[in-house]
Amino acid sequence: MPGTNLTRDEAATRAALLDVTSYTIDLDLTTGDKTFASTTTISFTATTPGASTFADLVGAVVHEITLNGESLDPSTVHVDDRLELTGLQAENTLVVRADCAYSHTGEGLHRFVDPADGRVYLYSQFEVPDARRVFTTFEQPDLKSVFTFNVTAPEDWKVVSNSPSPAPQPLGDGKALFAFAPTQRMSTYITALVAGEYHEVQDVYEGKYGTIPLGHYCRQSLVPYLDTEELVKLTRQGFAFFEEAFDYPYPFGKYDQLYVPEYNMGAMENAGCVTLRDEYLPRSRQPRSFYEFRCSVILHEMAHMWFGDLVTMKWWDDLWLNESFAEWACYHAEVEATEYTDSWTGFANARKQTGYRQDQLPSTHPIAADNFDLHAVEVNFDMITYAKGASVLKQLVAWVGIDDFMAGLRQYFKDHAFGNSEFTDLLSALEKASGRELAGWAEEWLRTAGVNTLAPEFELDAEGAYSRLAVRQTAHADWPTLRRHRIGIGLYDEVGGRLVRRTYVETDVEGALTEVPELVGEKQPDLLLLNDSDHTYAKIRLDERSLATAVSGLSKLDDSLARALVWGAAWDMTRDAEMAATDYVDLVLANIGAETDAWGVSRIPSTASTAAALYTAPEHREEVRSRWEKGMHALALAAEPGSDSQLTFVRTWAASARSEESLAALESLLDGAPSLDGLAVDQDLRWSLVTALAAAGRAGTRIDDELAADATISGQEHAAAARASQPDAAAKAEAWRAGMLDASTPNETARSIVLAFMRAGQDDVLAPYVAEYLEVAGSVWENLGTHRASVALNYAFPTVLASPELEASVQEWLATTTAPVPAVRFVREGLADVQRALAAQARDAQA
Ligand SMILES: [Zn+2]
Repeated sequence: MPGTNLTRDEAATRAALLDVTSYTIDLDLTTGDKTFASTTTISFTATTPGASTFADLVGAVVHEITLNGESLDPSTVHVDDRLELTGLQAENTLVVRADCAYSHTGEGLHRFVDPADGRVYLYSQFEVPDARRVFTTFEQPDLKSVFTFNVTAPEDWKVVSNSPSPAPQPLGDGKALFAFAPTQRMSTYITALVAGEYHEVQDVYEGKYGTIPLGHYCRQSLVPYLDTEELVKLTRQGFAFFEEAFDYPYPFGKYDQLYVPEYNMGAMENAGCVTLRDEYLPRSRQPRSFYEFRCSVILHEMAHMWFGDLVTMKWWDDLWLNESFAEWACYHAEVEATEYTDSWTGFANARKQTGYRQDQLPSTHPIAADNFDLHAVEVNFDMITYAKGASVLKQLVAWVGIDDFMAGLRQYFKDHAFGNSEFTDLLSALEKASGRELAGWAEEWLRTAGVNTLAPEFELDAEGAYSRLAVRQTAHADWPTLRRHRIGIGLYDEVGGRLVRRTYVETDVEGALTEVPELVGEKQPDLLLLNDSDHTYAKIRLDERSLATAVSGLSKLDDSLARALVWGAAWDMTRDAEMAATDYVDLVLANIGAETDAWGVSRIPSTASTAAALYTAPEHREEVRSRWEKGMHALALAAEPGSDSQLTFVRTWAASARSEESLAALESLLDGAPSLDGLAVDQDLRWSLVTALAAAGRAGTRIDDELAADATISGQEHAAAARASQPDAAAKAEAWRAGMLDASTPNETARSIVLAFMRAGQDDVLAPYVAEYLEVAGSVWENLGTHRASVALNYAFPTVLASPELEASVQEWLATTTAPVPAVRFVREGLADVQRALAAQARDAQA
């Protein structure tokens, strides 16, 4: 039984047989709050009359199926979420009348009732294969078609889709028909429907190819936080940049951005109808990194309008290219076209780190993954696909040059507009534009997994100058590929209290050892920085002198990107048990107060928190955690009033608070004692403080009190997280039930719970959840669905209990399990994290 899976081979067979002329989709959203009526009419041709195929419709109750005027029996034809279609003619019409279910997992057509005011909001999320939960489809990216949506809804609703929203036609009883014009040719997964009592603001972009209407939408209860002016500004900057850079007009007419609730990802590139998580409209003070990230998301989705929506991958094998390109393009556009001109530093400090992390897990895979079926696609939607892929495209740009890279892209868009393509099509466009052979490059970077490490190797002469300098390249034994890297090398000296770059060269690293003759004769610098400029994707090592320079004065380095590389090198060395966690915590405490990059400020304290709680030797841990807590408090007090550093350090201090002094201070902040100068104790910060107290077991009635004062979905999610973080057996049991077992818990609430559940220092109360986790891993995939199951298994793994005993029990489970493959993947990843922690602890024991 195929179930909801679909293989690449099945899709290729179906694509060879069919051409889908059009879809007409009639949806009635007024039939109740559990289901909606869905009637789909598909016109399609078949190359082989008499042949058979199938259409897709998942989780539906089918009432009527007609193929070419002949009525078919749903009970025999709609089996296992597929509709078997036999005896095809050259031209066919399929009509399917069904009732489909609203979703509460963020997959399909999600329905949300706002607790703040009882208003109803719907939105669709179809990637990868979920349009078939809303209408009957041939669900695969290369069967593009035109789609006509006719939607019956309450007449006062906003109804938004890929085509411009039509005027409602009254049907009586407060209902209306919203009859949309046919869309452009597109894939099913980027069609969309958003409907409900949304707030709407319209604006326009006037560009070189004409006017694009720009809509912004959000829930009524978020209207005060919809910063339309800023969002319109970024959107216009993005369009101006991409229309010029891609040399192709925006293809989908209007451009709506809809901020929607309980959203699983960051956003989705539905053609002309982009959905984004509505946490991007914050009600409380957020640091600049938040806005920098939001800007990157807006530009990422916009880049997809060309790369993904106009030209679409043939099959999900090229999902990586879709996502990696949008990632690369959004940072490139952010730097070139918006105020976030340091975004590549932010990328190095934050996003790129997620790629390095994922690439060192046992589940890593080549960027170009073998996505032979939909199950494979689901598990490969990871940071290899996004962050590593974007980093490798950045290296490709350094390899061929930005001008040739853009020239190749422009030709690619023109050649494949409204069609489907494969990676080889892009590669040959880039080869033609650059004159460089790229097949070999693609083979080593895209078809192999793992991250290389680059370390300096040198000898000094009697005067302290390099008599030899080389770059040593290594790889993990399981992923032994050595690659060609275009890198910069920087030599920095301490001059007048600053670390100043004396020399910079660029060179091609190839094989295990690359000599760098250009730098022979240069005096050994205080800091030798490989991959300066961050062109390549590789872990770098600091030599002894350079590491000492970093620990004693990283903040003397003025260039934020160079600092990001040093921060990253130190963190990698800590994770790889080459630097003691204690030393890493000291490095952060000594230098983070002077960090200026938005992402550096936001992210680096969280790595040091992990180092203190998880990577320190048990015998040092109490002392280091206490030093970290005190240090963060001191940094918070010393930070510039009203700065991002102040806000981040207060949040980090709260999350690490265990001493009576800190906890009492958090309580008085909540109770209205004078705050730090310039610090607003706003709603989200209040929840951080309540959660910190809850985690220490002294929230009392504060969770209930805070929720009573904040009766929003955000408040409910924060309250659920705060409850889950308590060191209390009953609270843990209830959180486990809601987060890991109960399929009816809304997706975002469940996510908040599992993120808060495992806390360092709660060993006794968490101990039973090792067995519970391994038990649940066998059934969670079926019980909770793909998205919730992934989140649950990822975040609820008991890494915080890392010990040889935990390692042994997980290994024993792995040896005998019959759990589904994706679930086993998460357990293996958890085991790898435990082993990494144990190695780091052993290294720290020598400190
Ligand atoms: Zn994307």
